[in-house]
Amino acid sequence: MDIFKPMDIQPDSDKSDNESVEKVRCLILGSGPAGYTAAIYAARANLKPLLYTGMQMGGQLTTTTDVDNFPGYPDGINGPEMMEQLKKQAGRFGTDVRMGMATDADFSGEKHIVTIDNKKKIEADTVIIATGATAKYLGLEAEKKYAGMGVSACATCDGFFYKGKDVAVVGGGDTAAEEATYLAGLCNKVYMLVRRNVLRASKAMQEKVMNTSNIEIMWEHQAVDLFGENGVEGAVLVRKKGTPEEETVKIKIDGFFLAIGHTPNSDIFKKYLDTNETGYIKTIPGTSKTNIPGVFAAGDVQDPHYRQAVTAAGTGCMAAIDAERYLSEIHK
Ligand code: FAD
Ligand code: NAP
Repeated sequence: MDIFKPMDIQPDSDKSDNESVEKVRCLILGSGPAGYTAAIYAARANLKPLLYTGMQMGGQLTTTTDVDNFPGYPDGINGPEMMEQLKKQAGRFGTDVRMGMATDADFSGEKHIVTIDNKKKIEADTVIIATGATAKYLGLEAEKKYAGMGVSACATCDGFFYKGKDVAVVGGGDTAAEEATYLAGLCNKVYMLVRRNVLRASKAMQEKVMNTSNIEIMWEHQAVDLFGENGVEGAVLVRKKGTPEEETVKIKIDGFFLAIGHTPNSDIFKKYLDTNETGYIKTIPGTSKTNIPGVFAAGDVQDPHYRQAVTAAGTGCMAAIDAERYLSEIHK
């Protein structure tokens, strides 16, 4: 059995008192694969990065068990352990990793001011935003009960564990259509649980779904509960909820996949940064640059499409290189 010891992490060492402003060359927000990779590169480039972890130290992968698709781990790796290793690697090159949450940002001037935990202010020449995105859930108690035991919000990540089994995908948008099609290639049967009598997905994605023989769309069905002894064994659905024809239906499934959208953690930056209609920070294609010079974005917070650990790490690397070049261009 793998045993790993989490590295000690200090609360904000509060090098300056809370009232004064601490000045840094590179501030990194977020401790997922994007944030730690940015930190490794920024520290090695001697930018002396300061990284705030946010509430979820290690990011989304700390909520999963096996990560099988991150290059370099031929036997897979446990998510929390992988994030611990990334943190150690960032620390090895001198990143100052502190607990704390960015609660406000002012990108109106040449120096960027970020408030931590509603009190402390950091003045940064460059800021790398790597605050991730959060999958939306239905809000059922059962989703918490069966987290990691049949409930997932990422088919690419967890689909493999349901090879040959029956699963359900909740949602009717492009993500749900994409996830259902992906799962159909692995699983015996995929139920798509759609709350209305139409799909929101694009025509092309709809066609793909309709032409996949082992996907069954359950129109006007909403999941209200899950059941099972040691993991998900089935779902309780309500058909035509709130109408005279309302009825309860049960399906037998081993996996329950949420695909009802993600919320990028970008709210506090929206006053200054361009975002798309769902809140993802816009970057100049092929770079991590936002519309504000010196402010860069990496990982899921700027990625509505891929949302994978390796792409987050890749864009974290890009952000640190972009920050280093920005600083050398302005001779800081
Ligand atoms: P995240 O990992 O989301 O990290 C965001 C970080 O930002 C967190 O540390 C958080 O505390 C911090 N933060 C948020 N707000 C603030 C703030 N205001 N101030 C400071 N910090 C803040 N991908 C794979 O490639 N393979 C897999 O097997 C896989 N499995 C997954 C399983 C699950 C259950 C989930 C949920 C996701 C999985 N993913 C997988 C997706 C992968 O986890 C994400 O794509 C990846 O973690 C994104 O990295 P990130 O660094 O952009 O953000
Ligand atoms: P989305 O377009 O907002 O669709 C969310 C889906 O989930 C909708 O069908 C919605 O139903 C359903 N839903 C929301 N809350 C629900 C609930 N509580 N119970 C049951 N169903 C619920 O989100 P998305 O599919 O993640 O797509 C986000 C954006 O990314 C879109 O612009 C999409 O086009 C894009 N995208 C594109 C691709 C691609 O082009 N290949 C792939 C993925 C995503 P209603 O329809 O009833 O509201």
